[in-house]
Amino acid sequence: MASIFTKIIQQEIPCEKIYETESEIAFLDISPWSYGHTLVVPKHEVAKLEELSVEEATALMTSLQTVARAISNAYDGADYKVLLNNGENAGQEVPHVHFHVIPCPKGFFFNSRNRYNYAEGEMAQTGEKIRSFLK
Ligand code: 5GP
Repeated sequence: MASIFTKIIQQEIPCEKIYETESEIAFLDISPWSYGHTLVVPKHEVAKLEELSVEEATALMTSLQTVARAISNAYDGADYKVLLNNGENAGQEVPHVHFHVIPCPKGFFFNSRNRYNYAEGEMAQTGEKIRSFLK
């Protein structure tokens, strides 16, 4: 069965898209650890990083860097975490490899139990803000 991220890639499920190439997509996490928390996902559905070819992994890293730079710039040069839960025992819930990019503005304290909710319209505004730094 297709992963939830493949359904997003195939536009069966909506997302707030940040960036897309032939081989990757990046979109806002629906249940963010901080505002702007984004997932960078290869379109080839595999569970783990090592299952990607070298070419796919390289392209993924390039997209990750592009998206991370835009996120940082959108939050005034904020620091950020890059996180990959590689396998169930590492906390992976969606078995489709993905990097989390989590903005950490000054004073932000990361707590994996703290998930935020976007207010009505806020997800779209956040997406627009980050996308404007990709142009
Ligand atoms: P994992 O635990 O697999 O590393 O992270 C999965 C992430 O996917 C979680 O942070 C979760 O909030 C996010 N997520 C799960 N389902 C959806 C969805 O339907 N849309 C979006 N945008 N994010 C999702």
